[in-house]
Amino acid sequence: MRRHPIALALLALLLGSALQPLPGLVDAVTGTVPAGADLVRPIAYTVLAPLSNVLDTLTFLSVQRAEALLVGWVLALALWGALRRGTLGQRIRRALLGPLTIVLLGVAAVLLPRPVPWLATSDPSVTVIDYHAHTAASHDGRPGWRAEDLAAWHAAQGFQASYVTDHNVIFNQPVDEPIRLLPGVEWSVYAQHVVALGAVAPIDRGVYNRDTRAMLGLFAELHRQGALGLASLPEYWEHHWGDLNDFVAAGVDGFEVVNCAPRAIGFPASLRAQVLQLAAQHDLLVVGASDNHGWGKVTCVWNLSSPSAHGYRANHVIARSIALAQGDWEGWTAAYTQPWLMLRSLSWSERSSWITWILVILIYRAVPRRAGDSAGIGILARSLELFKVRRPEG
Ligand SMILES: [Zn+2]
Repeated sequence: MRRHPIALALLALLLGSALQPLPGLVDAVTGTVPAGADLVRPIAYTVLAPLSNVLDTLTFLSVQRAEALLVGWVLALALWGALRRGTLGQRIRRALLGPLTIVLLGVAAVLLPRPVPWLATSDPSVTVIDYHAHTAASHDGRPGWRAEDLAAWHAAQGFQASYVTDHNVIFNQPVDEPIRLLPGVEWSVYAQHVVALGAVAPIDRGVYNRDTRAMLGLFAELHRQGALGLASLPEYWEHHWGDLNDFVAAGVDGFEVVNCAPRAIGFPASLRAQVLQLAAQHDLLVVGASDNHGWGKVTCVWNLSSPSAHGYRANHVIARSIALAQGDWEGWTAAYTQPWLMLRSLSWSERSSWITWILVILIYRAVPRRAGDSAGIGILARSLELFKVRRPEG
């Protein structure tokens, strides 16, 4: 116990967190576990669960919580490294190594290619769709992030279609493989982003940029074009929270209620409930948006769109529960609440993978090395051999 306190604490947390399980997916409207949708984890994802889960968890952070988590872990690991016994050089190296690992994990969450979970549905009549995503045509899109890259990103996660909504640049490329990309645009008008879906035409943004009243006129213009207009997060939350009834009166077709962008993912459940009530009253669409810009490998939300339904009932928003939790926890607690949320939402196969990795590392470290042996994988093989030999017979 004294020799491996971290491994044993981690094992205790892995088992303890299973007593307070969080479902992997939640219906963002009802708050219940969705009946017709499942998160499917590829085998490679599960085998690498400690890495997969940590990188997913780092992706689903609000800006404030990301900062708190970074500062908390960098300080804690630097201090721990500096205070452990050793020569001055060793202590400096350890004090730098921990924080460097955290930064590298952050970079890996954004850039590292890896297996990702995908959404499977049992209802063949629904379409798994994304209403809001970007390419390099957006000023803040990842350089070189083509429509084909975006389509592949979506396809890997179970999407069957996605609107492409670049900032003030109309998308109209015919892309059908691996999934169909649909035309749209995200207009920036008077501190609001309006996601326009369908065959949109250019507008003079100056007309809509004067004040809130002028901005709201965009919805009527979109209807003239035969397009739909959705109010995007975080803008209506940050800048137009008092104007939502006017949005409805002006003809808004719906509201984003989940958006995975770091500035929007912290939208609190209490405010989401108010928007849901307004949308239900007026039979408006409510949607989730990956708002992907080419960074990060996983979405926090999917939509199940039913062609037979209309308005409020036409779309089901299925979100990762850890993403929805971002708005419900104080930002400063992220250094410990984010890992705790991750552990609670592990499936049993992921939990088993974590435990296996910990045991493998424990065995590896527990076997005494012969003088001159380096810390290679050969030691592990030999130690497993050792276990075999030592097992009592009969
Ligand atoms: Zn966007």
